[in-house]
Amino acid sequence: MSTQQNDALPTIDLVRVGAGAARDGDATCPSSLRWKTRPMSRAVGRFPKEQLDDFVLRPVMAALDRVEFGGEVPDEAFSIIQGDGGPVHPGVNRFAEHAVQVYLTAMPSLGPVPLRPVRELWVAQRVLPSVVWELYAWGRRYESVDGGLREFRFLRLGPARERSPAEVAIAAYAAAFGTPAEFPDPWSEPFRPFGRTGAERVRVLEVGLVDGSVKPLLDCTAKEVEEYFAERGRARVVDIARGEDLVPGFGCGDCKRVAVCRGPVRMPGLLGVESGQGALRTVSVSGLRYYRKCPAQAYLRTVHLPRAYEYSAEAELGHAVHGWLETAHQGQGNACSPDTMPPVTVPVADAAWSAGKWRVTGEFANVGARMLAYHVEICPFRDAPEIDSVRVEPQLTFFDTVARAVVVAKPDLIYRERGQWVWRELKTTQKARWYYTDPLEGFPQLALAVAVLAAGGLGPGGAGRVELEILRPSGAEIVVIDPTEEERVQTARRVLREWAAPWRSDHVFEARPGRNCRGCPVSVWCPSYPGPDPDEKEDETSAASRTATEG
Ligand code: SF4
Ligand code: SF4
Ligand SMILES: [Zn+2]
Repeated sequence: MSTQQNDALPTIDLVRVGAGAARDGDATCPSSLRWKTRPMSRAVGRFPKEQLDDFVLRPVMAALDRVEFGGEVPDEAFSIIQGDGGPVHPGVNRFAEHAVQVYLTAMPSLGPVPLRPVRELWVAQRVLPSVVWELYAWGRRYESVDGGLREFRFLRLGPARERSPAEVAIAAYAAAFGTPAEFPDPWSEPFRPFGRTGAERVRVLEVGLVDGSVKPLLDCTAKEVEEYFAERGRARVVDIARGEDLVPGFGCGDCKRVAVCRGPVRMPGLLGVESGQGALRTVSVSGLRYYRKCPAQAYLRTVHLPRAYEYSAEAELGHAVHGWLETAHQGQGNACSPDTMPPVTVPVADAAWSAGKWRVTGEFANVGARMLAYHVEICPFRDAPEIDSVRVEPQLTFFDTVARAVVVAKPDLIYRERGQWVWRELKTTQKARWYYTDPLEGFPQLALAVAVLAAGGLGPGGAGRVELEILRPSGAEIVVIDPTEEERVQTARRVLREWAAPWRSDHVFEARPGRNCRGCPVSVWCPSYPGPDPDEKEDETSAASRTATEG
């Protein structure tokens, strides 16, 4: 791809591919990526913005710009940018302040050649008779005084790590062969590059904003960049620009096509709440649980602030049991048997088994092995008649157009039995009993399951049943809920409404300090964190809410 200046660009079509579009991830929707590469196509159906600005890197970049281009000291820069733009959550502000300090401390030591910051993006632009192609990367840019060396830095909220080769290739290509250009305004216009095109040498690296870690990704000549891009970037760029598959999920909420796309299943009224003229949001049942614990915690999770490790040994065990059964049930209807389960090991110190990324050892390994042994008795595929459409831990995406919410759910298992849909959720516990009177009240994901089945949200087939499988080291239990029973459906809808209504009407996500702060994985960013309070007593209500998050 050669680059050239443009004064009067033909704008029959404009294809703009940012390095971020080449990020690895099964959950990324190819069709959505393709639409993003077409800045001239407007979003279908516009939704208002959230009151809080949820783009965490915006204040970070704004403060760094003031320091690097305006010569301000970081504290001053940060207090000035706090008055700019829309309101920012206090937790995001705290993170952004930390990130700016960490970035500025981490970076000056890199390399013997002094670099100066570059304000403009580097854009590799190719103008054809009917289309303009543009490659660029979003991050921070530096160059040597003579312009012969360009350095591009990706930013990551967490610690620095690898990026996909295609992502690195696009960033390197834009640095090696691009021309400086300001952000087009409006975005639907082509870039207007000006100044020096290309550099002889390019470095690409990533900076982790949580800890100042630095990951070098590429350091080579422009010639080598050309080869690297030809091998790892070019085909990916074409794929991105042509992507057609629909992969609905957490990305739908930011997608230009959500108002007309057939990917998310339309279920107006699913959450039982109205948005008014609110912004389009995305939520899962876990998100609603976090919200009920503390709105600020839910928000800071949603905007992906770095989190402390949050899994207790019990939670790790629950994940391991889930993981084991996820693999076991991939066999499309094959029933589990005792010889496919991990053994109970003596001596207990030798006990260990893993499922996916989860590993359990010692007593926890044996507790999990006992739970899994009891699963065999109630495996959904044991003596099951006419099973089809088995999906293990599928990601289901619904669009509640009344609540203006994309609802993402991950049932443990769904399948059809004699043409009727079954939705099964699994919980593990070492407690002898749960603290709830109605499973729909205790587990809102069951309420979601009932509401979805009752409305035919899983596709062709009748509403069969919703099941809660409870595994204990001392036995197994199945709770069955009939989604055709009117009272169950009404209760499910009421439960969903009670969980969703406060979340939907909230626009500020205030901190609610209390017992939940102790296990809060984002407490380091929370200005309201009161510190640990070991003397606080738990009552039954709080025990119930914690129990409901197990497994
Ligand atoms: S709405 Fe969802 S499924 Fe449809 S194109 Fe967008 S991200 Fe993909
Ligand atoms: S530390 Fe406490 S108040 Fe702050 S976000 Fe976490 S749970 Fe909420
Ligand atoms: Zn099974």
